[in-house]
Amino acid sequence: MTDIRVYRYGHRPMRDKRVTTHVALTARAFGASGIIVDTGDEQLEKSIRKVVNDFGGDFSIETGVSLGKFLRDSKNRNLIHLTMYGIPIDQSIEKIDEFMSSGKNLVIFVGAEKVPGNVYAESTLNVSVTSQPISEISALAILLDRIMHGKEFSLKFPGKLRVVPMEKGKKVVLIPDRARCLDILRENNLPPESFERAVEIESISMRIATDIDCDRNLVSACSMLLPLVEYNHEFIKGLNDVSKTVADSVLRIENAIIHEDSRNGALSTEERIVVFSALTISGNQEEDQDHGADFFREFEIMDQEINGQNPDGIENGNRDI
Ligand code: SAM
Repeated sequence: MTDIRVYRYGHRPMRDKRVTTHVALTARAFGASGIIVDTGDEQLEKSIRKVVNDFGGDFSIETGVSLGKFLRDSKNRNLIHLTMYGIPIDQSIEKIDEFMSSGKNLVIFVGAEKVPGNVYAESTLNVSVTSQPISEISALAILLDRIMHGKEFSLKFPGKLRVVPMEKGKKVVLIPDRARCLDILRENNLPPESFERAVEIESISMRIATDIDCDRNLVSACSMLLPLVEYNHEFIKGLNDVSKTVADSVLRIENAIIHEDSRNGALSTEERIVVFSALTISGNQEEDQDHGADFFREFEIMDQEINGQNPDGIENGNRDI
């Protein structure tokens, strides 16, 4: 996978704070792995890191990298300079696709003020998004959309905050991290054995989740909170402290465990992983635990064959859960 970064030139912390922040946010949401900014700006770094911490992903930010240093240090890469004087994007797309399969990293150069002539000369490609002056944010978004061929819309950002799309209104789900889950168990005075069980289920679940395309934060939270309802139903009120989405998952998981039914088609992949882990521990099938994701996949395939179901709409031959 080609690593895509943005280099932001001419950033003036006071004047460009908002636009550079939006350049970084757009880069992140459209699949770039980081932004490098020429002028040092701690505040900018802080606000972008906060978004990454809350909403997830591996996006990095580095500021204070002068143009000279950037050009000296970034040699074995393709450099696309976004400029209204460049070759129109429709005529550049073949070359851009070649960059993406070249094995080299890609850097997109975005200006804020007048860009020196040597950047035009040193760039692998000067690309325009219309030959009119436009906002660098829109130019970057359109370029990234062409680079990604629309795949940016299915990117996953498994952060602790999730926006739930809805026709009207606003809904954001908070997935508690491991430390918060332990606090919830403590606040509800759960006995020591339930902490051990939480950690054990989480350990197996995470081993499985590492190899599977799923929401790992959700797997971790559901694993850690399961003993809350398993141990004694009086503790169910502890789920009031987490969002309804997580609480509902924990309750569905518990219900499936009671019925020893990790094949329940209504469960999400994340929920099935936790049910599987909890049942594996209960059955003390150490061998199954060692097999982790492989065993889980086999289990899912068996399930499809037995029930003629297709969990998650996965086509035969593509077992990438
Ligand atoms: N006044 C500056 C100059 O003369 O270079 C440019 C200011 S412009 C708002 C900031 C950045 O937006 C440019 O450096 C370029 O990266 C980007 N940009 C503006 N219009 C563009 C276009 N039509 N196509 C691609 N990039 C564009």
